[in-house]
Amino acid sequence: MDQNWKPRTRAVHGGSRRSQYGELSEAIFLTQGFVYDTAESAEARFIKANSDEFIYARYGNPTIAMFEDRIAGIEGAEDAFATASGMAAVSASLLAMLRQGDHVLSARALFSSCLFVLEEILPRFGISVTFVDGTSLDQWKQAIQPNTKAVFLETISNPTLEVIDLEEVAKIAHQVDAKVIVDNVFSTPVFSKALALGVDIVIYSSTKHIDGQGRALGGIILSNQEFIRTIIEPYMKHTGGSMSPFTAWIMLKSLETLDLRVHAQANSAQKMAEVLYGQQKLKRVIYPGHISHDQFDLVMKQIGSGGTVLSIDFSDGQGAAFRFLNSLKVAKISNNLGDAKTIATHPATTTHQRLSKDRKDELGITPGLVRISIGLEDSEDLIDDVLQAVKKA
Ligand SMILES: *Cc1c(COP(=O)(O)O)cnc(C)c1O
Repeated sequence: MDQNWKPRTRAVHGGSRRSQYGELSEAIFLTQGFVYDTAESAEARFIKANSDEFIYARYGNPTIAMFEDRIAGIEGAEDAFATASGMAAVSASLLAMLRQGDHVLSARALFSSCLFVLEEILPRFGISVTFVDGTSLDQWKQAIQPNTKAVFLETISNPTLEVIDLEEVAKIAHQVDAKVIVDNVFSTPVFSKALALGVDIVIYSSTKHIDGQGRALGGIILSNQEFIRTIIEPYMKHTGGSMSPFTAWIMLKSLETLDLRVHAQANSAQKMAEVLYGQQKLKRVIYPGHISHDQFDLVMKQIGSGGTVLSIDFSDGQGAAFRFLNSLKVAKISNNLGDAKTIATHPATTTHQRLSKDRKDELGITPGLVRISIGLEDSEDLIDDVLQAVKKA
């Protein structure tokens, strides 16, 4: 790959490995194993394989390597490791580097499975975890400890779309040499500048915008070569959460259109937000790209776009939210996001159902809150659909 290529060129050509047939579209290598010419070459490969030599698909495979190299090129990361799901990436990034006695500092507004890993699993192994309001730099400063080894956060957060100042949090973390891990789904690789802002490890659930068509689960861990090869690779190789070659091919080909899709979705989300502000039945419209968002300046500096998701909150609570959902004709009721299809979700009764009422209140997950992930439909059809459903709510 030419180092001067811009992200959209990298998204189309980065990471390609052509076979002797010179295929135009990247091949799917559906093979778990590889054949060696001689016993000596098998031995040599087990001692040290170069980046085009493979041993077993749990360790790596040409199609998986193409996906890893291509997304690393888009994100501006030295290296990447693909995983079976977003949660395999989240759990590996933590478990691969932490040990008994370590401390983790995390923002409290998290995807509920991430919360489970931090709150339920890590403490079983003697790892302590503290949660803070991620938007308060004072809380980050106060809660950091000499033994803090990892700082974990999501930006933009789900479903209330809060933005955390990555540059400032990274400075606080690096004072004690803690690594900053960002679960970056809502920023997408298209808008992310996380590594340039000082973040050490970026994670995506590729199930979301990267696939973008609701087909396959996947995840990716991006960082420097040292972290990926000495911390992540041995852990992934031996614990088994690797991505399948078929999934890697879906994700690889999807990267070619990611930039176009995400920009189109973000443009429609912006238009939708402008129309929804001022609707009487809504007590809140949350869209990071709207000037009324509390952190609008930070959003523009850090992401440069409001992203593809917005949340609305009905004054009349769950009844109104359900009437809205049940009246939608174009948008689908589901819990994925980043998809070509517009998806509406009621977090309080689905994705965040498990949380106690106090926790929901603390996180702003009210009974009237609906999250809308904007898809690729014509924006006029979408706006008409959402407005007619708001009227019926
Ligand atoms: C979806 C999601 C995950 C989990 O990803 P899976 O691919 O479903 O395992 C983790 N974090 C965030 C922010 C997500 O949106």
